[in-house]
Amino acid sequence: MLLKKVLSKLKIELTNWPQPILIKPEIESFSSMINDVVIIGSGPAGLSLAKALVNLNLKVIVIDKLPQEKIEFPQYDGREIALTIASQQIMSQLGQWQLIPDKNIHLIQSARVLDGNSPYFLKFIPQNAHNDRLGYIISNHNIRKAAFTAVQDNNSIDFLFGREVTNINFNNDSATVYINDGSTLSARLVVAADSRFSKLRQLSGISCNMLDFGRTCIVCRVAVTKPHDHIATEWFQYNQTLALLPLGPNELSVVITIKTDQRHKILSLSPDYFSAYLAQQVEDRFGNIQLVSELYSYPLVATYASQFYTKRFALVGDAAIGMHPVTAQGFNLGLLSINALAEEVSKAIASNQDIGSTRILEVYHRHHHRTSYPIYTATNHLVRLYTDTHFYAKIVRKALLRLGNHVKPARRLIVNRLTQSITATRLT
Ligand SMILES: Cc1cc2nc3c(=O)[nH]c(=O)nc-3n(C[C@H](O)[C@H](O)[C@H](O)COP(=O)(O)OP(=O)(O)OC[C@H]3O[C@@H](n4cnc5c(N)ncnc54)[C@H](O)[C@@H]3O)c2cc1C
Repeated sequence: MLLKKVLSKLKIELTNWPQPILIKPEIESFSSMINDVVIIGSGPAGLSLAKALVNLNLKVIVIDKLPQEKIEFPQYDGREIALTIASQQIMSQLGQWQLIPDKNIHLIQSARVLDGNSPYFLKFIPQNAHNDRLGYIISNHNIRKAAFTAVQDNNSIDFLFGREVTNINFNNDSATVYINDGSTLSARLVVAADSRFSKLRQLSGISCNMLDFGRTCIVCRVAVTKPHDHIATEWFQYNQTLALLPLGPNELSVVITIKTDQRHKILSLSPDYFSAYLAQQVEDRFGNIQLVSELYSYPLVATYASQFYTKRFALVGDAAIGMHPVTAQGFNLGLLSINALAEEVSKAIASNQDIGSTRILEVYHRHHHRTSYPIYTATNHLVRLYTDTHFYAKIVRKALLRLGNHVKPARRLIVNRLTQSITATRLT
């Protein structure tokens, strides 16, 4: 009787015992070896890097906490991404640009910056006589879709979707990531492309400069009745910033930046009230306005990692630098980070060196920091100046617009910086 009681108690305790975590067969085979590269994050940066590295004959594993359908069929998220000519070159080399239908690629032929209610504006036109455009605009979900389609069937890439990386640890010959299903993966090089709030950056001990602007970006699409002439407009008003980006013939992308505590005033407007509000803000320059999408909001926090690497570990995309969107540089810098890292890895392979060595990653860091830091700092100063409503700030911003228009080298410098009309290194 006693034995029966003990056995039945034991049975209950055994059933309560945590179930052993099953390691999926495909992970088991990767787990037992040191892989070439593991990338955490299958956003546009992670997927672009995956393609650049398989072009160098490396084997890559990409992990994302989202399920596959969210990556394969990304939903419209309100973000319209302004891309530079250099980004177009990089995306073409990665086989992504060709996958985006022409009707989803919109041209920016010129740009203007307005200040307050003054009709005066700073104008940017392409600096190269043979170039009729400053850049392009493509919806973020279309970029994501093309980035996934370009790698989806590649035999050198394995995807682990619906799995979150929870920790990382570094050894001499590899780094090991810990996944929330209990499995681990080791690789000669681990790369985090896990967003501006990168958990892997934090876990790897890399500090980060974070700038919370206390502002929120509200984005949407509107239909208009007057032509936009492919002009992008950045309008620094006194309580908010308004960016209007040209899309199809009668469509604009609208980006309103407003103090976070006032965002509900706009987010709670009905479509008709929002359209009327916007028409009033743009002083009827675009004719009738009709909201044609939902309103999406993004809190504005800029981030800059103190370094873009540590032992056998690198940061790319927003995980390295998360930009304020006012100068539309976030993903453009992300692509440059991929270009720079792939170039150093390629050199390492060519000279028979270790692709995860600290020396290689340090060169990557220096290269990307040199390109990005001036843009990051200038953007943050610009945001501060153009959201400062003090009298002297207003005078300085007006003077800067005039300086930009009349001092040609200054304007050329700004256009070249913003459009990054440099030649991207070949990734293929
Ligand atoms: C309103 C707005 C407008 C913008 N406009 C422009 C513009 O005009 N031009 C421009 O160049 N840029 C622009 N950007 C910036 C651009 O959107 C980003 O730079 C780009 O989307 C970042 O891509 P990413 O791949 O680095 O990160 P993300 O797209 O954030 O992807 C990160 C991925 O990592 C995954 N992940 C995170 N943590 C883990 C984990 N622990 N384990 C597994 N997976 C994980 C996530 O699920 C996600 O899929 C804009 C941004 C905003 C908000």
